[in-house]
Amino acid sequence: MPPHETGAGGAAAARPCGICALIERCRAGNFADFVADLQHSFVILGDAQFYRGYCVVLAKRHADEIHLMPPDEARALFDETIAVGRAIALATWPLKLNYECLGNLEPHVHWHVFPRFEADAMRAAPVWMRPEAERKVALEDSDRRALIRTLAGELRRQMPSARVAVER
Ligand SMILES: [Zn+2]
Repeated sequence: MPPHETGAGGAAAARPCGICALIERCRAGNFADFVADLQHSFVILGDAQFYRGYCVVLAKRHADEIHLMPPDEARALFDETIAVGRAIALATWPLKLNYECLGNLEPHVHWHVFPRFEADAMRAAPVWMRPEAERKVALEDSDRRALIRTLAGELRRQMPSARVAVER
């Protein structure tokens, strides 16, 4: 497990980081929902595909807070997050995108990028208001693979140096 380079100490720093573990699985080619390996982040398809196209952008460097990251890296991470938003928009044509950087459960900087759709009766509310059992929908496997390929292709088009899922 990589050390917590910028942790504030205390109980949270002593607990293994779930996102660092996920990043190790992405690096090892052992994560089915891997989308892309960008300069400062790994992009994965999120586990709440009620919001079809939802992705999570995982900072490669462990930091508990954005302000604890090197400023240029935090900005570059946001550029990558914007690219993911654009890819989701082009792949799914949502009514709106939601960008969230929370980290209350896993304090390792990551951005949630959710597409929101007209057909969602709760579209004016934060995604987290929908019960977990309803939002944590898995896509049918061929649909999931096709969506990952589309997202990866869009990211590759925007960032030619990206290593994307279609290549593995
Ligand atoms: Zn971490």
